[in-house]
Amino acid sequence: MTAVIINGKEIASKKKAEIAQEVQKLRDLGITPGLAVILVGDNHASRTYVKNKEKTCRELGMHSILIELPETVSQEELLMKIEELNGDPAIHGILVQLPLPKHIDETKVIESISPYKDVDGFHPINIGRMMTGQDAFLPCTPYGIMVLLEESGISIEGKHVVVVGRSNIVGKPVGQLFLNQHATVTYCHSRTKDLTFHTSQADIIIAAVGIANFIKAEHVKEGAVVIDVGINRNETGKLCGDVAYDEVSEKAGFITPVPGGVGPMTITMLMFNTLKSAKNTLHS
Ligand code: NAD
Repeated sequence: MTAVIINGKEIASKKKAEIAQEVQKLRDLGITPGLAVILVGDNHASRTYVKNKEKTCRELGMHSILIELPETVSQEELLMKIEELNGDPAIHGILVQLPLPKHIDETKVIESISPYKDVDGFHPINIGRMMTGQDAFLPCTPYGIMVLLEESGISIEGKHVVVVGRSNIVGKPVGQLFLNQHATVTYCHSRTKDLTFHTSQADIIIAAVGIANFIKAEHVKEGAVVIDVGINRNETGKLCGDVAYDEVSEKAGFITPVPGGVGPMTITMLMFNTLKSAKNTLHS
């Protein structure tokens, strides 16, 4: 079997066009969705991500501001900046680009963002609401994965989903979203014994490990759906995922490529959440 490629770039473009239309409708009512991104320090990868977020905001007709703070900024100054943005009516979404310098407590920072503006979906209130199936800002990468499957016509109810990785930003929440949609979910992680035993039973595998080409054909059941979250560099410096694409695509039913799979969806769902937050102000 040769897998059907789930084209994340194409699905993201379609979703972004829908978001841009909704943004225009809100602007006609006098509300321009606004995203504030805080970048602390000068991490090269973080700067690239932040620039992309700003660019996408502009493309979709949203307002965006970038607040750059030096590596040496104190936690108190950062919290004060967030407080200011919490009270700014032109800002509907606040994102603090992670990782933060070591002297800053990431948990404190995340908890200081208003849950109503937490478009990353990392605040414990949004996580709790997601867990209990209430309306919430869903974390962007997990949410993007659910949209990829929906747009590809892949049903979830009753499926066995194996999530490899249990980080707070990808593994844990994505498993919860599958559970909310009536899948049977298994989590695997660095201390799982006999990974292949679990993954080879999966109808859907989510690879969020952060190790280049980690999931091989032997891990995958014939015809399974394989979603590759990883963004890694191989030994030649080439961008690659957590899945050994060439061999796994010969066995899987559906597969996401890297690049062009999950990646484009993450930023798209950030835009979606910012729009959602702006729309919420209509009813408040
Ligand atoms: P992380 O390092 O926080 O977590 C990795 C997880 O993999 C851990 O839970 C660990 O238990 C598990 N793991 C490690 N070794 C393992 C092993 N041998 N067997 C089974 N499990 C093992 O990583 P993360 O933040 O969840 O990111 C994972 C990957 O996804 C990275 O490559 C990251 O760059 C990428 N990522 C991509 C996007 C996107 O938009 N596409 C977003 C976030 C993260």
